Amino acid sequence: MNFEDELTRGNFTIPECTSCKKIIWPPSEFCDVCYNETCLKSGQFSGKIIEYSKQNDEYFCVVEFLDTFRLIAKMKEKPENGQIVKILKCGILNGTYFFQII
Ligand SMILES: [Zn+2]
Repeated sequence: MNFEDELTRGNFTIPECTSCKKIIWPPSEFCDVCYNETCLKSGQFSGKIIEYSKQNDEYFCVVEFLDTFRLIAKMKEKPENGQIVKILKCGILNGTYFFQII
């Protein structure tokens, strides 16, 4: 299973190098430093809101995970900068990753 297979099933995982333990983002099956394979860490990861903007009735947030990488996620409630959030739902929609946070 790779990152996208897991994401399709609604599971958010984080690729980590099996050798040097670097977090690999954007997700890849190989480490961009030592070229070893990556494995997928799963769990309830917390992210931090870096910034957000409002579009229609939704908030689009830049969320940082593990102090390492950032992704864009939607939120229904009004976010605050620095707020700690979790992924509520995720998947692939029309070929694009989507993440909803709470
Ligand atoms: Zn590595």
